Amino acid sequence: MGWEFCTVRNIKKTRKEHRCEFCGRTIPAGSPKILNWSGMYEGTFQNSYACHWCQDHQKHFISEWNNEILDFWDSLKEDVFWKELESYKPVYGKTDGDYFVLYSYETDKEVLRIKCPIIRESEVGEE
Ligand SMILES: [Zn+2]
Repeated sequence: MGWEFCTVRNIKKTRKEHRCEFCGRTIPAGSPKILNWSGMYEGTFQNSYACHWCQDHQKHFISEWNNEILDFWDSLKEDVFWKELESYKPVYGKTDGDYFVLYSYETDKEVLRIKCPIIRESEVGEE
């Protein structure tokens, strides 16, 4: 199965708020150059968006085997930031605006805060 058809495009400027398919954060209306893909996936119509940070790191979030989207926090912990998190495991994550924040399961304390902007800083305020 998988995709029956899929159209990928870059939206110049979004008109509405969207939710990032990977991290789940809100991409504000008026955001520039937003990746959008839509099509028929396993019988359901999908219309998805990605924030800039996830767009730049999407290879970590998509399975090379079947193109399926992997669990975001697992990929973040085991792939993208495994080095930074090595000494803190096990942790769980939350989003906080432009940051991903990781907490220790043991102490519930914040162990790592990583800036991963929803919109690239170079793009903010540009028309
Ligand atoms: Zn995202």
